[in-house]
Amino acid sequence: MEHTKISPTPDAAIAAYSGINLIGGARVPAARTLAVLNPATGAVLGHAAAADGAETAAAVAAARAAFRGWAALPARERGKRVAAAGRALGADAETVARLLALETGKALRTECRGELTVAADLLEFYGGLGSELKGETVPYNPRMLTMTTREPLGVVAAILPWNVPLVLMMLKIAPALVAGNTVVVKASEEAPFATLMAAEIVAGFLPEGVLNVVCGTGAKCGAALTAHPDVAKITFTGSEAAGETVYAAGARRIVPVSLELGGKSPMIVCADANLERTVPGANAGMRFTRQGQSCTAASRIYVHASLYDTFIERITAALDTLVIGDPLDEATDIGTIISARQKATIDRFVALAEGTEGATVIRCATMPEDPALCGGLFMQPTLITGLPEDHPCVTDEIFGPVAVIQTWTDYDEVIARANDSRYGLAATIWTTSIATALDATARLEAGYVQVNQNLTIQPNVSYGGFGRSGLGKEASLEAMVEHFTRKKTIVMSFDA
Ligand code: NAD
Repeated sequence: MEHTKISPTPDAAIAAYSGINLIGGARVPAARTLAVLNPATGAVLGHAAAADGAETAAAVAAARAAFRGWAALPARERGKRVAAAGRALGADAETVARLLALETGKALRTECRGELTVAADLLEFYGGLGSELKGETVPYNPRMLTMTTREPLGVVAAILPWNVPLVLMMLKIAPALVAGNTVVVKASEEAPFATLMAAEIVAGFLPEGVLNVVCGTGAKCGAALTAHPDVAKITFTGSEAAGETVYAAGARRIVPVSLELGGKSPMIVCADANLERTVPGANAGMRFTRQGQSCTAASRIYVHASLYDTFIERITAALDTLVIGDPLDEATDIGTIISARQKATIDRFVALAEGTEGATVIRCATMPEDPALCGGLFMQPTLITGLPEDHPCVTDEIFGPVAVIQTWTDYDEVIARANDSRYGLAATIWTTSIATALDATARLEAGYVQVNQNLTIQPNVSYGGFGRSGLGKEASLEAMVEHFTRKKTIVMSFDA
């Protein structure tokens, strides 16, 4: 399966993907568009399609028309095509990574290239799992053959946010496609271009209509997709509020819904933790190089009182070395916030902390001084100490480069504080005691618990939250079998 590079430069790619939806294998111009801004300069980068109900329905119709033919291919053949698409995405990775940096403001070196690597890896991982779509035989009656099979569901609607759109797209489309479904992706209206380019590369390995992308607002395009009678499954990643609306739309039509929502993930640093590893681990876990715009960000850090002062000193010093600047500059560690709206939300949280008695706000690193970047949505990595546990900065998802650092002395109490959240996406504990690690991993109420590390999403490692962080798992074999197929039970008898 051959692939030729689609676009040599990011500018050409933005021009090519401006104002279009990808429907039935073609770039289809939309009737209306929305401006997409470069968050590092404030300039208009291009335009996203603003798909309406009819344009969204056309994408669903294309996916529905392609379904039977795609589902009829042997599972391993579907998998081979998805894996080949992963290798092709690797070949075009630099252009797609640059598009991602331009539209999201994430730094090319520290974030965007890595996102492309994981996105391509997810396609290759799922591409190898076609033969795992197995059923069972059931010992019901020796005179009857009783078995189960796994069937695709039909048209899958995959709704994406802007923060890591390529990894999140592959988490949805790779298992859905290998399982024999066809897909309509709803790209984020704030970051559509990298999604469109990556999807077009993947679609090049598939029959027309198997993978489609629409862009537009949640209220119009997203709502039309979730309400469409031919959508058999909804998989959504985004905010808690939109997740509720999407879940209700699925409930009205009684179709399965997977949700990956927000988080306020705790990180506990025990008295015996090795600070040489814990401080870089906290910085990686808080995703400061992604401006903290991560659902799994370790945004509540509980440090044992005996280490507290040293921890603050070392983490501040480490953050001070990070370079904030142009996302495309190879020297840059930290780019920008995605939008003025998101920045205003983050600023409101920080202002609330500044107005709280006993709280200290520590701003680290240096803002860029280049006049070309004066319209950019840059923010310093920010640490907040001395807050009460019920403060909104401790309880709510900020989705920005802001970590709250609290202190503790009693182990049972800190576990209770870590669990005192409506979310349950991730949790981390740093300790050199295996007994403490075993106890804490059993007691922490989160879907992804790590000890002495803060990994991001990895192929083959099941990922998904508890509580209001969501429903269902992604990234694993289980995610494909449980969430993108239905189980049919068959009982056969040939007794005359
Ligand atoms: P968002 O909820 O505003 O939008 C996400 C997507 O949903 C967008 O494509 C949007 O257009 C669409 N949408 C919005 N309203 C809709 C509706 N009524 N019907 C259908 N679609 C609708 O989220 P965002 O601001 O793009 O992303 C940030 C949020 O995503 C954060 O809360 C973050 O925690 C969450 N997130 C979660 C994970 C995870 O894996 N748990 C990963 C990344 C981001």
